[in-house]
Amino acid sequence: MRPRSVLLLLLASTVDAGCASRAPSSAGALATTATAGPTIALVNGQWYTGSGFARRTLYMIGGVLLTRRPSRVDSTIDLANGYVIPPFGDAHTHNLDGTFNLDKVRGAYVAEGTFYVQVLTNAATNAAQVRDRWNRACDLDVLYANGGITSTLSHPFLAYEPRAMGLYGEWAPHAAAIRTSRLREGNAYWFIDDLAALDATWPRILAARPGVLKIFLLDAMEQPPAMPDSGLPHGHGLRPSLVPEIVRRAHAANLRVAAHVETAADFAIAVDAGVDIMAHLPGYGFGNDPDGRARLGGSTAAFEIPETVARKAGQRRIVVTPTVSWTLGGSGPDSAAAVVVRQALMKRNIDRLTSAGVRFVVGSDWFGSTATHEITDMRAARVWDDATLLHMWAVETPQSIFPGRKIARFDDGYEASFLVLDQNPVSDFNAVKSIRLRVKQGCPVS
Ligand SMILES: [Zn+2]
Repeated sequence: MRPRSVLLLLLASTVDAGCASRAPSSAGALATTATAGPTIALVNGQWYTGSGFARRTLYMIGGVLLTRRPSRVDSTIDLANGYVIPPFGDAHTHNLDGTFNLDKVRGAYVAEGTFYVQVLTNAATNAAQVRDRWNRACDLDVLYANGGITSTLSHPFLAYEPRAMGLYGEWAPHAAAIRTSRLREGNAYWFIDDLAALDATWPRILAARPGVLKIFLLDAMEQPPAMPDSGLPHGHGLRPSLVPEIVRRAHAANLRVAAHVETAADFAIAVDAGVDIMAHLPGYGFGNDPDGRARLGGSTAAFEIPETVARKAGQRRIVVTPTVSWTLGGSGPDSAAAVVVRQALMKRNIDRLTSAGVRFVVGSDWFGSTATHEITDMRAARVWDDATLLHMWAVETPQSIFPGRKIARFDDGYEASFLVLDQNPVSDFNAVKSIRLRVKQGCPVS
C-alpha cells in the first residue's frame, strides 16, 4: 500500500466521530465546537500564516484545530514538509444547479481544492434536489441564492426560460412564445416591479431557503423606457427605489445580498442600499453590446466608479467578484480593441476600489468552469501579484462566503480544513496544482 493510502485510511478511521457530529444546516453555517474524539497530531507541516509559511505542529480533534498539545495524542500524521494552506472558495458560480453535471463539477472543485462555493442564482427546485449532499465534513459547503430578483422580463429571465422550454438553438424566432412563458418564474427568477409585488413574493422567496440573495441591476432606472412589443426582451432589472427595501428585509432575515451590476450608477445604487457583494465590476462586458447597455455608446464614462462611491463601498467593506474572465473575451472585428479598453477600465476601477478598502474575491461565473478558470485569468490580467491572489482565493473568498465561521485560519477552534501542497505556492503559484492531501473538517476529501 502506498504511504498516501495509509494516511487516508488513518484519517478516515480516526475522525468518524467528528464527521458524524455535524448536521447540515439551512444556510450552511456549521457549528465548530470541538467534540470528543481521537486526537491527531499533524507534524512536519509548513503552515500558511497569511503571507508566508511557518513550521508548526497542530492537533486535530473532532474536526477542529488545536495549537497546543492536548493531554492525549492518539495518532500522528507526518505532513512530510508539505505546505499547508486553507481550501479555496468560489464566490460566484451558477454550477451545482441540480443533478446536471453535478459529480463532474463537484469533482473539479475538489481536485482544485475549492471547498466553499456560492451559487449566485439557480433554480430553487434544483437546489432542493441536491442540497442535502453539501454542508458537511468531507464535502463541499454550498450556498444557493435560488431565483434572481429582477423586473418583468429582465435578466436572468433569458438565461433560464428558453432552456426550460426546451429551446437550445436560435431563440429569436421563438421570441413571442418566450415572452409569455413563465415555466421558471418563482424558481430561477422573480419579477418584482413594485412594493406590492415584493410583499406578495417575499414569503415565497424565503420559503425556498436561500443562503444568500441575488438582485439584478442593468443600467437600472426608476422609469425605464418602454420595452419593444416584440423580439427577445432586455430589461433594466429592479427599479432603484426597491433595492433598499429588499436589502433591509434580507438583512432582517440574516441573508446577505449580492447585486449584478452593469454601470457605475448601478454600483452606486447597490452601495447606497447596503448591498454586501457586487457580482461584477461595472463595464465587465464593455463593447459586447449585451443587455441594457447598448444605449451607453462607446465611452467608458458610464462605467467609471466615482471616488466618493468607492470610498463608501470601502467603508462598508463591500466584497466584489470582478469576473475578470468576462473582460478578456470578445468576438467580431473590433473585439481586440474592445478588450484593451475594457481591461484598462477594469484596472482603473480596481485601483480606485482597492485604495478605498473594498475586498476582491474569486468568482468564476462561467457555467461549467470552476475557480481555476477565473484565477488563471486574474493572474493574466496582472492587476494583483501572486501572493495577493493566493490570500484572496484561500482566505478572503471563503471568509466572504461564510462570514463569522472559523475557517481559513490555522488557530485554536478553527475548522480542521486544509490542503497540503508539495511546493511553496508563495514562491511559485503553480504549486497550487500539486495538492497531495485535502482535509475538510477533519475528514479526507477524495
Ligand atoms: Zn453570474
